[in-house]
Amino acid sequence: MEVDVNQPIVVLDTPGSGFKEEVASQVGTLDLSHCFQCGVCSGSCPTMSHMEYGPRRILHMVNLGMADTVLPSHDIWMCVSCYSCSARCPQGIQITDIMATLRNMAVARGLARDKEATFSRVFVDVLARYGRLCEWQVLLRYYAAEAGLSSVTSLMKQAGLGLTMFRKGKLKIRPDHVEDVQKLREFMTRIGRGEAS
Ligand code: SF4
Ligand code: SF4
Repeated sequence: MEVDVNQPIVVLDTPGSGFKEEVASQVGTLDLSHCFQCGVCSGSCPTMSHMEYGPRRILHMVNLGMADTVLPSHDIWMCVSCYSCSARCPQGIQITDIMATLRNMAVARGLARDKEATFSRVFVDVLARYGRLCEWQVLLRYYAAEAGLSSVTSLMKQAGLGLTMFRKGKLKIRPDHVEDVQKLREFMTRIGRGEAS
């Protein structure tokens, strides 16, 4: 590959945007520049093979202020919050919390377009509605939100399994819910407005 010496190796998407500081402030008292790029986090990550960059490079890009690359990244939705990276980081950087913060920021800025993001949103919507998980509602809402031909095919494939689970009493048509569902919904609305912690 020919290298153009007049071009920078790393292009900062939004230099000076305050992205790094914003991430740090949302995660807490954390100096992200303490990361010395040892790679222990990426080496510990069970979903690394499904990521494009991995936690080490994500953190490096956060430090470089590359919001435009990090926030639309598929990688932040591949994190399963296992805390392996946070537990092993020699610098005590809470990468799991950073990943969660990046997902929140991606949603807030309308950059969460992955199907994993859709699933997370639907999952939380159903929990916020009942306080309990209702599997068939999650699946239906998810496939409706994805609304593609492959989604319809996937849903059809799952129909047989759903029917078997229903026959065996493992799938309830009427969703379970917490005792005071109204209170839960009011609480979730307040969280949505940023009024509850
Ligand atoms: S383990 Fe910690 S110090 Fe090492 S690359 Fe990951 S975040 Fe940086
Ligand atoms: S918390 Fe996320 S980024 Fe860290 S090791 Fe687990 S899956 Fe990977």
